[in-house]
Amino acid sequence: MHKTAAYAAVDARTPLAPFSIERREPGPNEVLIDILYCGVCHSDIHQARDEWGGSAFPMVPGHEIVGRVARLGANVKSFQVGDAVGVGCFVDSCRECPQCRAGEEQYCDQGMTGTYNSRERGTGAPTYGGYSTRITVDQDYVLRIPESIPLDRAAPLLCAGITTYSPLKHYGVKAGDEVAVVGLGGLGHMAVKIAVAMGARVTVLSTSESKREAALALGAQAFAATRDKATFKTLSRSFDFIIDSVSGDHDYNAYLGLLKFDGTMVLLGIPETPSTVAAGALIMQRRKLGGSLIGGIRETQEMLDFCAEHGVASDIELIDIAQINEAYERMIKGDVRYRFVIDIASLGKAA
Ligand code: NAP
Ligand code: ZN
Ligand code: ZN
Repeated sequence: MHKTAAYAAVDARTPLAPFSIERREPGPNEVLIDILYCGVCHSDIHQARDEWGGSAFPMVPGHEIVGRVARLGANVKSFQVGDAVGVGCFVDSCRECPQCRAGEEQYCDQGMTGTYNSRERGTGAPTYGGYSTRITVDQDYVLRIPESIPLDRAAPLLCAGITTYSPLKHYGVKAGDEVAVVGLGGLGHMAVKIAVAMGARVTVLSTSESKREAALALGAQAFAATRDKATFKTLSRSFDFIIDSVSGDHDYNAYLGLLKFDGTMVLLGIPETPSTVAAGALIMQRRKLGGSLIGGIRETQEMLDFCAEHGVASDIELIDIAQINEAYERMIKGDVRYRFVIDIASLGKAA
């Protein structure tokens, strides 16, 4: 066992604080990873504050993990000590159901094993995430980070990157398509970069007028402020595809009206409270409303290789672990350009 420094939420109302966990020596098919960077996803906040219900405490969040292989199990042939690797939102699944066989492990019939706030298959022990200095993971759930992507800027690809890449691919977004990205946070800015790399024309729909210049600098062709109600008239029936990455409560119907005939809107954000969808908003132009959950291991590797090929990485603000509670408050206000990433070296020092 390896005593490992971490940061944890002990309950839904207390700020995160230093905590100690144990990581096991890798089994035959596992690798032990020294964590270098961990991205801060809004899902960390939702879960640490129990906004979705059912959170288990103490909780060590973090599922945008990048580090280097420190030790290998006897059967591990595809990684070597020192390799740059990543771990995303899940660390195991049943491996036998149709979705697992199809490489869509996140939709496992028996439920994926979350990187944190979950329980290990077999032992039932709680899983702890990347706000920690090490993690032991089965080799089949470990990603290879291409050399050309700086490791700190790669971390957010493990959730924000794959969560936006997967629906763009699944719905066949192609060069020339009109795509809108709603919400310019961690997921939103990756959606812009990846859709632009796929050749789409991207419009950012944001509550923050102050993000206009930055949105265009990311490669978006246009920006529209959603606090201005005229936007919903001007852009009516403009888009083939809308990615909704909004973390807070908002009216889906207003955005559905921006889809063209046969257009699709995909929900990625998971606000605390359910909202109402008017049938007419879908029926009138044969529109579709879908959802999408991260992406499978094979597709995550494909996304990482796509990002390397197209020079795509996350725009980040690197923080020390001691700034994590402040970072949560800033994210809730939409004050992030565009992903906080924890420098895990600061956790080693803090412990
Ligand atoms: P984030 O960085 O905090 O970005 C969310 C953005 O949404 C904000 O920056 C803001 O953008 C906008 N926003 C927030 N509240 C709003 C409101 N009430 N009305 C309109 N816009 C609002 O969060 P994130 O890490 O990208 O995550 C976004 C959501 O996706 C979260 O709910 C998260 O749990 C979920 N998520 C889902 C998956 C999945 O697999 N489906 C994976 C990861 C995360 P503007 O300032 O531009 O308006
Ligand atoms: Zn996430
Ligand atoms: Zn399965």
